[in-house]
Amino acid sequence: MSGNCLFCQIVNKKIPTEFLYEDENVVVFKDIHPAAPVHLLIVPKKHIRSINDLQKEESLIISELFMIAKDMAKKQGVNESGYKLLFNVEKGGGQVIFHLHLHLIGGWNK
Ligand code: 5GP
Ligand code: ZN
Repeated sequence: MSGNCLFCQIVNKKIPTEFLYEDENVVVFKDIHPAAPVHLLIVPKKHIRSINDLQKEESLIISELFMIAKDMAKKQGVNESGYKLLFNVEKGGGQVIFHLHLHLIGGWNK
């Protein structure tokens, strides 16, 4: 856990947030400023600053994020209508929270 990281505080339940999914390694919650009718954040519990900091031994975490995203898309009913999966990387790539997270965005014209 990184002390001043917002998502570490959410993951560690210091900031109350409803989890739509939780397992040993990952949590999923709604984005506070949704960019679409469905906008979830799929977040590893481990503090990884950005994709740029990802280590080879963390590759399994990335595949877990995508498998959970696929399941969440189905649960949210957007798997057939379609959705986007997105990592913003560093400031120029739109990253604001420097704790790795995968955006699941969809639900338009559902
Ligand atoms: P980034 O731009 O870093 O890829 O995405 C960070 C996302 O986190 C943004 O879409 C922003 O709306 C969301 N966010 C920021 N603070 C909070 C918060 O306290 N709770 C939740 N649920 N989402 C947040
Ligand atoms: Zn963190």
